[in-house]
Amino acid sequence: MSDPASPVEALARRIIEAQGPISLAALMRLANAGLPESYYQAQQPFGGAGDFVTAPEISQMFGELLGLALADHWHNIGEPQAVDVTELGPGRGLLMADVLRIWQRSAPSLYRHGAVTMIEASPALAQAQAERLARHTHSVSWARDLPPGSAPILLLANEFFDGLPIQQFLRVDGGWRERLVNWDADRGFHDALGPVVTAAVEPEGDVWEQSPDSLDWASRIGKRLAERGGLALIVDYASRPGESSLRGISRHRRAEPLQGLGQIDLSAGVDFAALAGAAEAAGAKTYGPLGQGAYLRSLGIEARHAQLVGKANLAQKRELDAALHRLTDASGMGESFRVLALTGPADPTPAGFP
Ligand code: SAH
Repeated sequence: MSDPASPVEALARRIIEAQGPISLAALMRLANAGLPESYYQAQQPFGGAGDFVTAPEISQMFGELLGLALADHWHNIGEPQAVDVTELGPGRGLLMADVLRIWQRSAPSLYRHGAVTMIEASPALAQAQAERLARHTHSVSWARDLPPGSAPILLLANEFFDGLPIQQFLRVDGGWRERLVNWDADRGFHDALGPVVTAAVEPEGDVWEQSPDSLDWASRIGKRLAERGGLALIVDYASRPGESSLRGISRHRRAEPLQGLGQIDLSAGVDFAALAGAAEAAGAKTYGPLGQGAYLRSLGIEARHAQLVGKANLAQKRELDAALHRLTDASGMGESFRVLALTGPADPTPAGFP
């Protein structure tokens, strides 16, 4: 047990000492975003010097293509003058910067009319987003929840859902028990099991995960799409039925999830079927999930790559080639990352989906 404990570890310990083992979901909430000392609020997660690299950090091509897909949808629903553009968990703001830049060039009317809302738990990251988007301030604001009103919505969420808390249930000794986290001086933080519960699902394997916060977001996005129309694109790495998808990442390597709480990235694969189910139950239509590689190819990433390569020097060309490969190939993010689209029930099929 490393001493002194981080603020997140100290608080988790006090809670466990007071009330016994806590659920993995409660622990993830504390570790990731719930406190000023939590991971996303206090650490510098992104980029080569941080813990992980996300698609918009790899290349501008990602944000440009998603931006064009949103613009295409806006066009197909009749170019409504009032439109809410929302991003969940925008990180350093690169994705929205790429989207707004491509709109300025290719969809100037949407650029002018879109009212952008950034939903971000970390004040430090919100500040970084504000700086990156400074030249667009006429249209950007920050909020805790989806914007009210009646305008259609265009929404992006890249690697947002994987950081939301999950509960895990393990099938042991003939029953489903919740995975809890305990602490003692000898072992530090370690796994514990709750009493047998009756989960209302068919067992598919020996681990079952659910993320109530994720289902809640999907349901609220679905409800707004049902009422107002529009398109939401959710991109993330997928969980596999029956397996634990909890993972810790520190400095680009896998780390023990319960060691270094608040100082490492703690995330879980996304259950796309569950998200789609929650959005459909709220009245939205769903498409996919498609593999990120197939989706980006279908939006034309190869043509965009060729266009950029045409203007690049040798070093830039190497970077563009590497980015294309990493974003689309199965050995990179091409298959493990998936794209789920949600639309209003009367909307046309979104670009990139068959
Ligand atoms: N979309 C960005 C960042 C992904 S990291 C990219 O692709 O690079 C996850 C982001 O979600 C961070 O900005 C983090 O601060 C934010 N976040 C995590 N939990 C959140 C919550 N509960 N509410 C709002 N934002 C949250």
